[in-house]
Amino acid sequence: MDSYTSSYSQFHVILFPFMSKGHTIPILHLAHLLLRRRSSIAITIFTTPANHSFIADSLAGTSSRIVILNFPKNIPQVPSGIESTDKLPSMTLFPSFALATKLMQPEFEDALESLQQVNFMVSDGFLWWTLESATKYGFPRLVFYGMSNYSVSLSRAIREDMLRLKLESDEELITVTRFPWIKVSRSEFKSTVPQDELQLEFMVKAITASKSSYGYIVNSIYELEPVFVDYFNDQGGPMAWCVGPLCLAKPSMAESVFHEKPTWNQWLDKKLERESSVLYVAFGSQVEISEDQLKEIAIGLEKSQVNFLWVIRKKEIELSDGFDFEERVKDRGIIVRDWVNQREIIQHKSIKGFLSHCGWNSVLESICAGVPILAWPMMAEQPFNAKMVVEEIKVGLRVHTCDGSVEGFVKREVLEKKVKGLMEGEKGKEVRKKAKEYAEMAKKAMEEGTGSSWRTLDKLIDETWRK
Ligand code: UDP
Repeated sequence: MDSYTSSYSQFHVILFPFMSKGHTIPILHLAHLLLRRRSSIAITIFTTPANHSFIADSLAGTSSRIVILNFPKNIPQVPSGIESTDKLPSMTLFPSFALATKLMQPEFEDALESLQQVNFMVSDGFLWWTLESATKYGFPRLVFYGMSNYSVSLSRAIREDMLRLKLESDEELITVTRFPWIKVSRSEFKSTVPQDELQLEFMVKAITASKSSYGYIVNSIYELEPVFVDYFNDQGGPMAWCVGPLCLAKPSMAESVFHEKPTWNQWLDKKLERESSVLYVAFGSQVEISEDQLKEIAIGLEKSQVNFLWVIRKKEIELSDGFDFEERVKDRGIIVRDWVNQREIIQHKSIKGFLSHCGWNSVLESICAGVPILAWPMMAEQPFNAKMVVEEIKVGLRVHTCDGSVEGFVKREVLEKKVKGLMEGEKGKEVRKKAKEYAEMAKKAMEEGTGSSWRTLDKLIDETWRK
C-alpha cells in the first residue's frame, strides 16, 4: 500500500464495504449522508482494486473530502475475476470468499498506521476481523447491517424459542413467543440457518465480533419497525442506530443528468405519455435463476398483459433458442441485460409495481418510491423481508412456489394472477396506498435537522466526537 497521510484535522470516518454491490451501495449512500452534516467530516473508503472503479464512478463529482484507498492486490487466494460476490459462480462459495477477506488484515493495518485520527469506522458485518484492527488502533467499530431489524430480531427470537422450548428446526410452523402474531414456516427459517460447517464458522465469527463492536448501523427507519428495533436494543448488546433509508441520502437524478437517457428510460417516458403503468421486474445482484424458471416468468408476464421492464443479469441464461419472447410481447415489455440505475427506474412515475426478490435495499427503494411489491424471496433473509412486506407493513403481495419451499418453482399461472392482482386488483390498490404512506414517513425520517434518522446519526457523531 502506498504510504498515505491523512490531512484531516476534524472528524474522520472510515467506511469499509463488503465486496458485493448490495452491501457497497448503501455504504456509499452513507458517505453522502455524512458529508451533508454540519461539521467538516472527512471520509476514507477502503476497497480492493477490482471494486475501486464501481466506487469511484458512484462517487464521481462528489466532495474532495472522500478518499478511496485500495489495497495493492485483490483478496489473497481468491481467483482473479471473482473479487466480488456478484461474480461467484455459485453462492455456495460465499463462506470461503468471506473467510479469505481476513488475509487483507496486515495490509489494512499498514494503512491504518498512516492515518492520523479516526473517530469511528463502519465496516460490513461480514468483515468481522476489522474489529480486531479497530481495537488495536483505538477507535470504535460500527457494524454495517444491510438487513431489517425485523429479520434480525425475528431470527434471534426464533433461536431463543428453540433453545428454551427445545423446538426442532424441522417443526412445520413456529409461533414466535416474543412476537405471537408471527408464524414462521420451516422453509422461511431454514434459509437463515447455516447449512454447513464453513458457513457456521463464518457466521459465528461475524456474530461474535458484532457483539463486541460499538454498535450497528442499520439501513432502516425507527418508525417503520419500532417493535423490532426496541426488541433488538433491549437485548443488552451494542445498539442499533437506524439511519436510513440510505437510498434517500443522495439526489437520485445526479447520475443521469450528464448522460443521454438510456433506452429503458426513454421507453418508460413513452409509457408515461400514454398513461400506461409498468411493472418493474428484477431480482438483485446475487440470486441465481434457472433457465426453466426464466422462461416461466416470461410466459407469466406475457399472459398477464401488463407492461413490464425486466432486468436480466448477464450471468443468467439468455431467453433465446426460438423462444422469441421480445417479438411476442412487442412494445408491452422491455428486457434490459445490463447494470441499470434501479433507484432511478423505481422512481419513474410510470412504475406502479415491483416484482422483487426482496433484498433489503430493493424493499427500501420500493417503499421510498411508494411502489408496492410483489414479493418473491429466493435466499438468505429474503423470506423474512417478504414476510415483513406482506404481513407486517402490508406494502406488498406474495408469490408462492408450488411446493411452498423458498427455492421452489413458481408457475406461470401463479405469476399471471399475482401480477394482475398487484397492478389492477383491489388488494393491489390497498398495498399501493400503504406504500405511499410509508414513502412519506421515509422522507420525514431523513429530513435535515428534524428527521429521526438524521438525528440518530447526529447523536452518533456527538458520541464519537471525543473518542
Ligand atoms: N441494483 C442496481 N442495478 C441493477 C441491479 C441492482 O442499481 O442492475 C442495486 C439496487 O438498486 C440495490 C442493490 O443493487 O441497491 C441490490 O441490493 P438488494 O439488497 O436489493 O439485493 P442483493 O443484490 O443484495 O441481493
